[in-house]
Amino acid sequence: MRETVNTIVRTKRQVRQIGAGRTACVAGGAGFLGSHLCERLLADGYDVFCLDNLHTGRIENISAFWQTGHFQFLEHDIIDCLPPGLPRFDEVYNMACPASPVHYQADRMRTALTCAWGTMNLLDRAKADRAKYLQASTSEVYGDPEVHPQRETYVGHVNPIGPRSCYDEGKRFAETLCMDSGVRVRIARIFNTYGPRMLENDGRVVSNFIVQALRGEDITIYGDGRQTRSFCYVDDLIDGLIALMRSEQQVEGPVNIGNPSEIEVGELASIVVAMASSRSRVVHMPRPIDDPMRRRPDISKAYSLLGWAPQVDLLHGLERTIAYFASVVGHSRLVPA
Ligand code: NAD
Ligand code: UDP
Repeated sequence: MRETVNTIVRTKRQVRQIGAGRTACVAGGAGFLGSHLCERLLADGYDVFCLDNLHTGRIENISAFWQTGHFQFLEHDIIDCLPPGLPRFDEVYNMACPASPVHYQADRMRTALTCAWGTMNLLDRAKADRAKYLQASTSEVYGDPEVHPQRETYVGHVNPIGPRSCYDEGKRFAETLCMDSGVRVRIARIFNTYGPRMLENDGRVVSNFIVQALRGEDITIYGDGRQTRSFCYVDDLIDGLIALMRSEQQVEGPVNIGNPSEIEVGELASIVVAMASSRSRVVHMPRPIDDPMRRRPDISKAYSLLGWAPQVDLLHGLERTIAYFASVVGHSRLVPA
C-alpha cells in the first residue's frame, strides 16, 4: 500500500492535472476494478468520492488513498437513494455490482436490484449534476454467444431464468436505463479482467487457479477445460475505461473493452501451474449451468473511436498477478522484492 501512495504522489507531479478541480464519483470503488479506477483518477488530479457497501469490496483496497487528501468514502448501498449532502459530481462511474458468479449468485435478487435501482439512482444523480456517466457493463450481456468473436451489434443469447440471469439480465436492463436516460452516458462492455486486488476467495478462474497453485491445492477445472475466455490485465482495462469516459468523439452505444487474445481454460491452468512452479494436480468438476463456451471481444470499435488496445500480454499480466497473490497467501519464494 505504501508503494501505492508513493506512486500516486509521484505520478501527480508528472502529469498534467487533467482532473484538477473536478470530482468523480466511483460507485463500487472499494472493489477490484473500482479501486484501480480510484487510484488512476487520484493520480490524474481528481477529487474522488467512493460509494461502496463493502459487499465484495475491502477497505484495504482504498485505505492508502485517504493520505492524498482528495479521497472520500461513504459506506452506502446504491439500491437506496443517495443521501443528501454529497458534493456535485462531474463524472460518475458505476462499478458497483458483484462480478464473480459465486458472489453475484449468492443473493440473486440483490444483484438484479443493484443493477436496476442502483443504476437508476446513479443516473438520476448524474442527470441532476449534469455529469458524464460511465456504466460498467459486461460481456455477459452476450450470454453463451452464437456469434464469435462478439461485436457490439450482436444482441446476445441469454437465458432469462437461469442461475446467471440476475447478473446478465440485470446488466442488460442497466444498459437499457442508460440508453433511455437522457444522460451523457458511456457503456463499457467489460470482458474478463484480472490482476492485483482480486479477492483470494473471489471464485473467478484466474484468482482460483493462482491461489490453488501457490497453496499446492488441486486446480479445479470446471468441465473438460475446452471452454475459452479472453483475459485482460487490469491496467489495460482502466486505460480503456478512462479513454471511453474522456473521449470527445461521439460514442453511440456500448463499447467492448477487453483483450481479444483467447485461451482455453485448461491451457490457462497449465500456464499458471508452470509459472507458479507448483506441484498442484488438475481435477475436473462439473461445469456450471449456462457457462458460456466461447468468449472473445471484437475491439475494433474501441480501437477506431478511442485508439485504445490492450498492451499487457497474458504472461506478463499473470506474472504480476502471481507475485501479488504470493504476497497475499504468504508464498515466500514468489514475494516481489
Ligand atoms: P468486485 O466485486 O471486486 O467489485 C464490485 C464492488 O461493488 C465491490 O466493492 C462491492 O462491495 C460493490 N458493490 C456491490 N454491490 C453494491 C451495492 N449494491 N451498493 C454499493 N456497492 C456495491 O468486482 P469487479 O471485478 O471490480 O467489477 C466491477 C464492475 O465491473 C462490476 O460492475 C462488474 O459487473 C463489472 N465487470 C467486471 C468484470 C471483471 O472481469 N472484473 C467483467 C465484466 C464486468
Ligand atoms: N472456471 C474453472 N475453474 C474455476 C473457476 C472457473 O474452470 O475454479 C471456469 C468457468 O467454468 C468458466 C471460466 O473458467 O468457464 C471463467 O470463469 P469465471 O468465473 O472466471 O468468469 P465468467 O464465467 O464469468 O466468464
